[in-house]
Amino acid sequence: MRRPTNERGHLTIGGIDATVLADTYGTPLYVYDVEKIRENARSFVRTFEALDVKAQVAYASKAFSSIAMLQVAKEEGLSLDVVSQGEMYTAIEADFPPEKMHLHGNNKSVEELEMAIDMGIGCIVVDNFYELDLLEALLKEKEKRIDVLLRVTPGIEAHTHDYILTGQEDSKFGFDLSNGQAEAALKQLLHHDQILLKGLHCHIGSQIFETDGFIMAVRKLFDALEGWRDEHGFIPEVMNLGGGFGIRYTSEDEPLPLNMYVNELVKEVKRQAYDRDFELPEIWIEPGRSIVGDAGVTLYSVGSIKRIPDVRTYIAVNGGMTDNLRPALYNAKYAAAVANRMNEPLCETVSIAGKCCESGDMLIWDLEVPEIQSGDLLATFSTGAYGYSMANHYNRFPKAAVVFVENGEHQLVIQRESYQDTTRFDLPYTRG
Ligand SMILES: *Cc1c(COP(=O)(O)O)cnc(C)c1O
Repeated sequence: MRRPTNERGHLTIGGIDATVLADTYGTPLYVYDVEKIRENARSFVRTFEALDVKAQVAYASKAFSSIAMLQVAKEEGLSLDVVSQGEMYTAIEADFPPEKMHLHGNNKSVEELEMAIDMGIGCIVVDNFYELDLLEALLKEKEKRIDVLLRVTPGIEAHTHDYILTGQEDSKFGFDLSNGQAEAALKQLLHHDQILLKGLHCHIGSQIFETDGFIMAVRKLFDALEGWRDEHGFIPEVMNLGGGFGIRYTSEDEPLPLNMYVNELVKEVKRQAYDRDFELPEIWIEPGRSIVGDAGVTLYSVGSIKRIPDVRTYIAVNGGMTDNLRPALYNAKYAAAVANRMNEPLCETVSIAGKCCESGDMLIWDLEVPEIQSGDLLATFSTGAYGYSMANHYNRFPKAAVVFVENGEHQLVIQRESYQDTTRFDLPYTRG
């Protein structure tokens, strides 16, 4: 894949020289091209608009949540998925309207449910019977009412990595459609005076490159809905088909254009609704990765280079599984380039190592690079989703900074942590 470069042969991000960003903010550094975030968001929003379908595009904020990011999401007219008090709090700090938030989670706490109810959240996606009972008790106590969706598992296996499969029957998420649990939950919610069941939700997986899984899920939902209409008179206002739209990490990935996912989903929902004589429900989706993933780049400084003759060359960078857990967590693949040598011929194969004390802390195996030296700047691409949001303090590395670039300008949006921050919550032991 061709990456943008300038006359110095340096990688540019949103028109800005990557080496300037590294010199200004230090490394490791997450850099987001905000125009790309907006473009991704608009691919979804505008396709629904062009099809004249009532819709909500809810950004799954777990992919990357920060005040600046949620400001952009708000500007683009997105709704927001939140799964914790921390994500709700961030959204409130970003002045995100609560009525456009949806609360997810397979083990929502009383505090999370209370916070959502108190702030007037748009809807709660109910996941299990325990939560349903908590919610009923809280609403009674507070004399409030709320809109909910029922999260169901339609028994679809999306073609993706096992660890991020969530739609199959054996799942920790949601009510199963086939074993009657979903219907039992429906019955508990029907004619409830404080809970309004708006419709169904399903999320079949992540990093999905085909539309078949979504189409099968739509059919399964309508199969259930048809029965529920006949049995219980339930008519959904909303059908939420989740997220999971795949992006390109390496040249082996072949994602569909984002508008195609929407087109195909809408086509199938329309067809099923028409065939079974339902009014067209609102269609909601929850993209996370596909909004921020390919908008992010991580910049690292190259440190030690270990050449093992006839075996392998390890190029170590000043980050790793602390700023990008995905390779260690599920063997995720990334593309990278030497940002200060973009026009030099590729001449050797190396592997990119993180600096954590784990052999598994490898960012990339077998990467083609030009002649590389300590002090060079390495850029890994498509790190915008589940990068900063999964960052951790292993080995007590402070979390890296995040910079936004747009219109030829750059701005720090999350500060780099300091060493004082790493011990900020530590207290001396005084009873020894
Ligand atoms: C993680 C998740 C998403 C977002 O998934 P992406 O692969 O980032 O698009 C959407 N909905 C639910 C319920 C999720 O758990």
